Amino acid sequence: MLPNNPYMIDSEPFYLNTGDEIPMFEAAAAARLPVMLKGPTGCGKTRFVEYMAYRLKRPLITVACHEDLFASDLIGRYLLKNDETVWVDGPLTRAVRMGAICYLDEVVEARKDTTVVIHPLTDNRRVLSIDKKGEVLCAHPDFLMVISYNPGYQSVLKDLKQSTRQRFVALTFNYPEPKEESRIVATEGGIDADTASRLVTLAGKIRNIREHGLTEGASTRLLIYAANLVGQGVTFKAACTAALLQPLTDDDRIQETLSDLIDDLL
Ligand code: ADP
Repeated sequence: MLPNNPYMIDSEPFYLNTGDEIPMFEAAAAARLPVMLKGPTGCGKTRFVEYMAYRLKRPLITVACHEDLFASDLIGRYLLKNDETVWVDGPLTRAVRMGAICYLDEVVEARKDTTVVIHPLTDNRRVLSIDKKGEVLCAHPDFLMVISYNPGYQSVLKDLKQSTRQRFVALTFNYPEPKEESRIVATEGGIDADTASRLVTLAGKIRNIREHGLTEGASTRLLIYAANLVGQGVTFKAACTAALLQPLTDDDRIQETLSDLIDDLL
C-alpha cells in the first residue's frame, strides 16, 4: 500500500449496522465476490461502503455514475502533457492496480456499453482490458467491485441487464428501523433524541403515503438535513418544510398533505 494513500479512510465513519450486512460484506470480500447494494436513495449505502473500507483497511475509490459516463472515464485515456502523450489511469484502473474497493454509485445511470467493461472484472477472470494500450490487467487480490442500485427507479430503460446483475452478491438496504434511525438522525444531525424521533415519526408517515403520488419516501439523508437546520435554530416546521416537503415534491396537493403531517407533530 502506498504511504499517505489519499483513498484510505483514516478515521472510523459512524455506521450503525441494521442487519447482517457487515459479516456478509466481509464474507464477500474474503471470497472476492463483487457486491451490489440495493436500496432507496439516502438510506446509508455510501456510508456503509466507507465504513467497510475503513474496517477492511482498503482504499476506496468512488465514481458517481451518470448517463455521459464513458468507458474511458473509468479506464483512462492518453493526455497531451508538454508535447508528450501520456497515459493517465481512470478510477477503475487505479482501483484494480491498487487493490482498492471501487464503488460505482447509481450504476444504472451509466451507459450500457460502459457497464460492460466491468464484466471481465466481476467474474472469475478478474481482469480489466485496456484496449487503447493493448493491455490486460489482472486485478490486485484486494480489488473489490461494489455497485449501488436503486430498484425504485426501475424502468424498462433504466434497469440493470441480467448479464450485469447476475455477477453480484446483493445486500438489500432500506430505511433503518425507527429506533435506529432516530439514533442516526440525533448523532449525525447533532440534535436531541426527542426531536430526532419526531423527525423519524414524520418520515414514517411520509413513507406510508408513498403509493399516493410520491415516487420515493423521505430519506434518512433528508431527515439529517432537517435536523441540521433545527440545530441552527430553525423551527421544526420550517426545517421540515425546507428539508423534507419541498425537496420531495412539486405537487401542490401532496405538499398540502405533507404540511398537515408536519402540523400533526408540532
Ligand atoms: P445512499 O448512499 O444510500 O444514497 P448515504 O450513505 O449517503 O445514502 O446516507 C445518507 C446519510 O444518512 C449518511 O451521510 C449518514 O449520515 C446517514 N446514514 C444512513 N444510514 C446510516 C447508518 N446505518 N449509520 C450511520 N449513518 C447513516
